[in-house]
Amino acid sequence: MLQHFTKPYIGRFAPSPTGDLHIGSLLAALASFLDAKKAAGLWLLRVEDLDPPREVAGSAASIIHDLGCWGMRPDGEVLYQNQRAAAYQSACQQLIEKDLAYWCGCSRSELPDSGIYPGTCSTGLPAGKRPRALRLRTQDRVVEFEDGIQGKVRNDLNSQSGDFVIRRADGLFAYQLAVVVDDAFQQVTDIIRGADLLDSTPRQIWLQQCLSLPTPHYAHIPLVTQSDGHKLSKRLQSDPLRNHDPLPSLRLALKFLGHEPPLLDWQDTWDWAVAHWSLHKIPRLTAQSLATLD
Ligand code: GLU
Repeated sequence: MLQHFTKPYIGRFAPSPTGDLHIGSLLAALASFLDAKKAAGLWLLRVEDLDPPREVAGSAASIIHDLGCWGMRPDGEVLYQNQRAAAYQSACQQLIEKDLAYWCGCSRSELPDSGIYPGTCSTGLPAGKRPRALRLRTQDRVVEFEDGIQGKVRNDLNSQSGDFVIRRADGLFAYQLAVVVDDAFQQVTDIIRGADLLDSTPRQIWLQQCLSLPTPHYAHIPLVTQSDGHKLSKRLQSDPLRNHDPLPSLRLALKFLGHEPPLLDWQDTWDWAVAHWSLHKIPRLTAQSLATLD
């Protein structure tokens, strides 16, 4: 049984500062913002700056600025993951003490192509290996949850994920760990994000159970693709986001999310969107092309 939060609604948007806000992240921001406003809840912003080598200087500030231009301002202080190492460290410690996590000494070249860890170090470090990454035991867990858009999701962690890394060999904390610790810290009840993270959710739910944390409600919106189904090119990613004329972009984004406002001005379009917002209108797809909306 998943232990869910009950009220009050707290939603969030959690961008990684690896570049400007693009159409995919804007859609996640918009959907999470509208869902929170419709529920008269809070919408929080968390900058996931966990991975300094992948960070682009200035991008956190530019994302926050662009969200503001769209009228999306967080309720409360922005949380930065680079300030949260002590909390992640303490979560790792708890998991090690409960024998739910173990040190793995395998290098990348020793891992199978499938990405599913074969458990080489799960009963102790083999002679000659030194501890590198910290892995969470998945045991023989099957995780099931009801996604607010995609419906029932079921994942056999053992065969579909395997014991996964929560602290990397380079010493950085893994996204899966940090996101779970911070969603609980910020008391997030509802997570709306892109379907590229649908696969991660069962691992995050298992981590919540290992850390005795409640499970938020999840909903994963379709990813934007090109009309041939391929990933969007860099140019197309940012094209629809010209801040000097955001109304057509807002209308297009709402249409992508299954909401078609009448022709209204900027503020009335937002008011309409909050009033008419429903996760049930969002296409139950994991990917969709912008071109199909023309
Ligand atoms: N930081 C992640 C990203 O930008 C999103 C994490 C999340 O929403 O859980 O892809």
